[in-house]
Amino acid sequence: MKKPEKIMLLLLKEFRYHKHPTLRRTSKIKNPYKTLISCLLSLRTQDKNTAKASKSLFKIADTPEKISKLPIKKLEKLVYSSGHYKKKSRTIKEVSKILIEKHNSKVPNTKPELLAIKGIGPKTANIVLSFAYGQNVIAVDTHVHRIPNRLGLVKTKTPEQTEPELGKLFPKKYWREINTTFILFGKNICLPISPKCSQCPLNSLCPKVGVGKRR
Ligand code: SF4
Repeated sequence: MKKPEKIMLLLLKEFRYHKHPTLRRTSKIKNPYKTLISCLLSLRTQDKNTAKASKSLFKIADTPEKISKLPIKKLEKLVYSSGHYKKKSRTIKEVSKILIEKHNSKVPNTKPELLAIKGIGPKTANIVLSFAYGQNVIAVDTHVHRIPNRLGLVKTKTPEQTEPELGKLFPKKYWREINTTFILFGKNICLPISPKCSQCPLNSLCPKVGVGKRR
């Protein structure tokens, strides 16, 4: 068995029964608009803040039309707990307006169409395609970028460079699970600073590229 697949199987075994919301996301197809808005709210904040802001917002408005009609101050108040609430509110408004005007209030299901909408980047686009449309894509965030570099699987400088490299290494059947599994692994074991190498199921396989202080 090749190294990437071995790594994936060890991580899936480690986290299979973990009751974490990010892992549960893979098993259920979500509402595309709510997935998109939650993803925009999740930028640069913790999961619990995203969940709180999304819950407050969707209780009041959960469609492009409803969010477009919300006064900006009210929207800012609803998503305040996600941080960067002013910028996020403006983005959410603009994205909703474009969906209404150009996409008949629907979230597109192709990457070029999603990326053409100002405010939607590659990671958000892939999260929507993966979790809302069940497409086999690899959504790369900071954890999904950092971990394969430490493992010596890729040698890349940005998440945008990492995505196609992972696509070449991992069989397609794992693509959707890479995001959730690596994020969970990155938050619990392969931490950004001082990773817990002594507790890591991948310890013997890992060259620990660029890892300084470790536990
Ligand atoms: S051994 Fe350390 S650096 Fe390598 S994957 Fe595990 S936690 Fe990360």
